Amino acid sequence: MPSIHREICEICLKSDVLCPACEEKVKNGIISALDIEVARILEKLKEKFKVLKSAEIIKVVGSENYVIILARKGDVSKIIGKNGSIVRALSKELGKQVKVVEYSEDMKTFINNLLFPANVETISIVYKRDGNKVLKIVVSSKSTKKIDEELIKQVVHSLFNYDTEVVMV
Ligand SMILES: [Zn+2]
Repeated sequence: MPSIHREICEICLKSDVLCPACEEKVKNGIISALDIEVARILEKLKEKFKVLKSAEIIKVVGSENYVIILARKGDVSKIIGKNGSIVRALSKELGKQVKVVEYSEDMKTFINNLLFPANVETISIVYKRDGNKVLKIVVSSKSTKKIDEELIKQVVHSLFNYDTEVVMV
């Protein structure tokens, strides 16, 4: 059976220790403690929620209050569960809010998914005087939902290695 997490083998999700291959990925920053924690909870939830057996997550990113799960294309609704049942169970275990976002290797597509339902106006690369590049995301202020800017910065940085600036217009 395939693992629920693309980068962590199923054996490691079912035990409390990591195999050398997964341990190496932790050292290289490919997976984090949060990836392992969330994937292990989802692995347990598979018994109750069979839909998870065919779902896959790519990465987990978190802040103090929030956990964002990046799901394989087409798997968001599987991980959310019927009426949000799986996300609720996960949120209870973690003690944090959980959001599931569809992953895309295309940065612009991904950022749109990440900020949904907020309306992204433009995404551009801005060159600073010191030579550094910053990704500037312009969001329409008509969006009613509050945006956790720190979390967006963290997600974009860990996936695409860009510093981000979020501007509301
Ligand atoms: Zn492993």
